[in-house]
Amino acid sequence: MDCKETQKAIPRFIRDELEGRELQAFLNHVESCEECKEELSIQYLVTEGMSHLEKDSTFDLQGSLEAKLSGLGKKSKVRERAITVMYVLETIAILAVIAMTVLVITK
Ligand SMILES: [Zn+2]
Repeated sequence: MDCKETQKAIPRFIRDELEGRELQAFLNHVESCEECKEELSIQYLVTEGMSHLEKDSTFDLQGSLEAKLSGLGKKSKVRERAITVMYVLETIAILAVIAMTVLVITK
């Protein structure tokens, strides 16, 4: 699997639609490719973050991403980066909610 195929498969990985050899090829590539791993983290956090916001439930993105990536080995550097991305996205999501609230109030 190359970068293009891997990044195309990210939404399906997030929806748990990858199986068997395709899933294995995806995981193998993500494990060895920083760029695709970062893309996966971002897409995963955005997708999960938005669905959590819609459902108004508590954030446990760190736990759920770690659970999903647990098959990829235990590289702490990767986890740290994923956590950093998560905090940034969480902040953006919160700011977006505040901005929308302000817009509604001032209308
Ligand atoms: Zn790649």
